[in-house]
Amino acid sequence: MWQRIQTAVSLIYPPRCLGCGDLTETDFGLCGSCWRETPFIGGVVCESCGVPLPGMADGHRIECDDCMAAPRPWREGRSALLYDGKARSLILALKHGDRPELARPAARWLARAGQDLFRDGMLVAPVPLHWSRLLKRRYNQSALLAQHLGKEVGLEVCPDLLLRCRKTPVLDGKTAVERAETLKNAIIAHPRRKTHLYGRDILLVDDVMTSGATLAACARVCLASGASHIFVLTLARVAKDS
Ligand SMILES: [Zn+2]
Ligand SMILES: [Zn+2]
Repeated sequence: MWQRIQTAVSLIYPPRCLGCGDLTETDFGLCGSCWRETPFIGGVVCESCGVPLPGMADGHRIECDDCMAAPRPWREGRSALLYDGKARSLILALKHGDRPELARPAARWLARAGQDLFRDGMLVAPVPLHWSRLLKRRYNQSALLAQHLGKEVGLEVCPDLLLRCRKTPVLDGKTAVERAETLKNAIIAHPRRKTHLYGRDILLVDDVMTSGATLAACARVCLASGASHIFVLTLARVAKDS
């Protein structure tokens, strides 16, 4: 019976590619040509920020020049995609295009990219959005990703662990010092969630990592509130040369 219903449903709503809307074999997938244009990150990556690196793994911790020059306040970080090509348009659609349904397949990509990060008892928390942006966009794309990821890998999610109490301008083009100054006191731990955070490993989830300044601000807030170790997982990483 269920089979027949499913068949009927797929005749009315055949699976479509997330990237271009063409018919595909499976729900929530990409067609062959969109798949080829979506830059998934694989191979050797910087263990701090997830950027792809040349060379081979040799069993030692590998970091990019940026992370070695200015160590991140978190332990490990990964990204599923490079912020380029089809990945960029998918993320913009998730963020501004009112396509929240993209969060579910994206969370599967996150689950795969972050497989080395997950720990027992880890708490998943999204990078917060200021309420005025939330009103405009109707949802926080990072919170959606965090919720789907939690379901996918069986970890607890706290969507309002962190709050953005000040609206901050776009950080692009600012120096590291200016970015830190802009974000100062903009992000706080939710006063009623602090006990939740104490002594736990926290996995911060965001859609895109550019300089990592916002994630660093979130990580510092978690550490100041007594979290154990911080890990970060983002859907896409802006690589320097892209
Ligand atoms: Zn497609
Ligand atoms: Zn790095």
